Amino acid sequence: MSAELLAFRDQVSACTRCRLAEGRTQVVFGAGNPAADLMFVGEAPGFQEDKQGVPFVGQAGKLLEKLLGGIGLAREDVYICNVLKCRPPGNRDPQPDEIEACEGHLWKQIELIRPTVVATLGNFATKLLSGRPTGITRVHGQEQEVELGGNRVVLYPLYHPAAALYTPRMLEVLESDFRRLPELLGRSLAPVEAAPVAASAFEPPQELAVQLGLF
Ligand code: URA
Repeated sequence: MSAELLAFRDQVSACTRCRLAEGRTQVVFGAGNPAADLMFVGEAPGFQEDKQGVPFVGQAGKLLEKLLGGIGLAREDVYICNVLKCRPPGNRDPQPDEIEACEGHLWKQIELIRPTVVATLGNFATKLLSGRPTGITRVHGQEQEVELGGNRVVLYPLYHPAAALYTPRMLEVLESDFRRLPELLGRSLAPVEAAPVAASAFEPPQELAVQLGLF
């Protein structure tokens, strides 16, 4: 893990920004390749994740690993984390104030990992990262380019694997949406637009300068 991500992880492991700190066994920060191009963002740790300190280690995690295997990837190739870093009691839904308290951790993770594709798993991650209230049933499989953590990324909403576990039709849709990930990973993204530079300070990039016959 990059030194900065490690330091940030240590900082978050002592977080007391919301009430979930009281009931957790430990903070579930995130796991995987710290330089991954592909990042998954789920909802919140469940029972197993809270005990082991690793996201998606239960049944939903097994399905996620299977889906990854189907596109030639292992969980070590990608980065996996959640909107909430601590388990809500009884696996209840994240509350708005908990999301608000925790979201800064996710923004910082995205900034440090710099993925090119962020796949949101389920409603909570999709609504938070898209900044829109539209639910996963309407937006799954529809990628959009957005700026997250200071970089352009492809935001790609997917059904949550836990929901797909018990609904065969949802699983088919999730499998089919998953199959588009390699194509999305191959896309090149426009860099975030830099602040305008005064005309006199403009230096054309080498390639363009050569095309313009400047060198
Ligand atoms: N569901 C999630 O959203 N995250 C986990 O880590 C496990 C299950």
